[in-house]
Amino acid sequence: MFTHVTRPGAIGRLRVANRVVMGAMHLNLEGLDDDGAALAAFYARRARGGAGLIVTGGSAVSPVAAGGPGYSLVNDPAHHPALRAAADAVHAEGGRIALQLFHAGRYALLEGTGLTPVAPSPVHSRFARTTPRELTADDIARTLADFARGAATARELGYDAVEIMASEGYLLNQFLSPVTNHRTDAWGGDAARRRSFPLAVLRAVREAAGEDFPVLFRISGADLVPGSSSQEETDAFAVALAEGGAAALNVGVGWHESRIPTVQGAVPPGAWAGYAEAVKKALCAAGHPDVPVIASNRITRLEQAEGLLRGGGIDFVSMARPFLADPDLVAKSVRDRGEPVNICLACNEACIDRSFGTERVSCLVNPRAGHELDFPESPRDTARRYAVIGGGPAGLEAARALAALGHRVELFEAAREPGGQFRMARQVPGKEDFGATLRYYGAELDRLGVRVHLGRRLGLGDAGLLRGFDGAVLATGVLPRLPDIPGWTRLHTLTYPEAFACPEALGERVVLLGGGGIAVDLAHLLTGARTPMPEGFLAEHGLPEGADGPAGGAGGAPPARHRITLVRRGARMAAGTGPSTRWVVMSQLRGHGVEMVTGVHYREITRDGVVVADADGAERLIEADTVVFATGQESERTLVPALRAAGVPYETVGGARDASGLNAVRATAEALRAAHRL
Ligand code: SF4
Repeated sequence: MFTHVTRPGAIGRLRVANRVVMGAMHLNLEGLDDDGAALAAFYARRARGGAGLIVTGGSAVSPVAAGGPGYSLVNDPAHHPALRAAADAVHAEGGRIALQLFHAGRYALLEGTGLTPVAPSPVHSRFARTTPRELTADDIARTLADFARGAATARELGYDAVEIMASEGYLLNQFLSPVTNHRTDAWGGDAARRRSFPLAVLRAVREAAGEDFPVLFRISGADLVPGSSSQEETDAFAVALAEGGAAALNVGVGWHESRIPTVQGAVPPGAWAGYAEAVKKALCAAGHPDVPVIASNRITRLEQAEGLLRGGGIDFVSMARPFLADPDLVAKSVRDRGEPVNICLACNEACIDRSFGTERVSCLVNPRAGHELDFPESPRDTARRYAVIGGGPAGLEAARALAALGHRVELFEAAREPGGQFRMARQVPGKEDFGATLRYYGAELDRLGVRVHLGRRLGLGDAGLLRGFDGAVLATGVLPRLPDIPGWTRLHTLTYPEAFACPEALGERVVLLGGGGIAVDLAHLLTGARTPMPEGFLAEHGLPEGADGPAGGAGGAPPARHRITLVRRGARMAAGTGPSTRWVVMSQLRGHGVEMVTGVHYREITRDGVVVADADGAERLIEADTVVFATGQESERTLVPALRAAGVPYETVGGARDASGLNAVRATAEALRAAHRL
């Protein structure tokens, strides 16, 4: 089935076992004081899972080049033990690993270091919220030397290749773009002069590391920034890299300042593949068909990768977050034994959003990611019997983790279908893959022999049943909290689970009380929007399809059935949604005409709608024929007395433990921890 994915390939002199590259991700494991143990374990696990080539998270070529406080520094000997450990660990698993040489330029997050970001020109960065210092001629010479030294060091440390980061708006991309390169010396001006710095980096690196050492270049297929490099300039740069000896081109898309989403759930899988295919076409036309092109961004499933490779327009695929969600992504698919693959949700909550801070990167659907040493996979010596009560994400993960440790597990879920809050989420445009997570857990629990009791609500009379177990996990989730607002029998009122269960029942004018993630998701569902097909998505954003000219078939929403108003007491809608996703969600809601009212008190529900008051006490009526309460939740812990009466040890996880700021990342992480603690 995966004949193209599994075909061995070559990147320069490097033989790669298959066509799947694990793309670079900064993990916040790089700076841990553990001699690289956690980092090595993370990469080794992905090598064991079948990644053909692993590209490390960016390793900064100097302190001012770092993307944040937790970056590794390739030219600092203090970082070499960790970097060497990662390379050795991957090789011990039979894998291949490239070190990404990185310079953030004006995207450097250097707060508290006393350093000022540097860039080709002093153009303010909305992402880093700083204005960089313009690089002098001496700085540029030094930076070239830093890249060269970094490449030679990577080779000495045992790496099989390096990848030079020249995409996503980082330093080399900044030199390429007329938006950020206003120089009038040899490094700026027309497109050929703007290319000269990245090409000089390639020359310096090859000279230092040896011409036989493979150098991949991560280039930007489209910057998605108004006024930036044209398709012709991108093609010319790709050809110049091939002529300069680059071993492969890995094609990214978008800058951190782009106002077009690139990595969120709103982006249909495969949307960006055409940009990599365009680069390949340019290389072929210029007589360089042998330089492999790697497609990346929103390639979420191996079936999709197989289709892209079969099409022949690219040579490798790069998948990054899917390896957080399931390190065995390639191995499972290739073994073809029906093992379920855990699909990345593009939620960014435990990965991209954390990578810009200091918290360790992990994964909502695989909380073991980044914690490989904390949660060993080997089964326990003694198998015990455990009850998991509740089949939401936390309960599912607890049951899976306990069973994977070799225990006998029974899961009790009150509803007729497991999934909890994920059953609501999967209905929301861009969140359809939350349903894939439920399918994964269903198949995995089945494979691991977990007995699942659906429609079985345990109660206070079940202490006897619970006594038959060696322990339990209480994962009963939350109950919606009702606001203290008079008049709610005067109008059609529902809780948010009721609204998700039957959105058709809602009237034409809907007021959603609450402005957290659930309220925002429900509003999005009610807009009637659909996740577009790739060509529709590109057309919506006024983009060409890349290889094949202008896109056709706009996506977008059918005419809205509802007039929707979100009303929140606090000042900020979707305050708990991560920064990489919140702006996309907000712009979608605005685009669909959802009215948003913040900073008000709920006064009363009348026959005509909801009366709210602003901070000065001025009242207004927001007309509605349906009011939905999405005003928070309370932990559901009614089973605690039964557990106490049973006298079994138990752990409470997820919403049942803490309903404030309901958070699926926290819930699944607690579930895994509980399974290992019991
Ligand atoms: Fe994917 Fe979300 Fe996991 Fe990140 S946290 S890898 S986006 S599922």
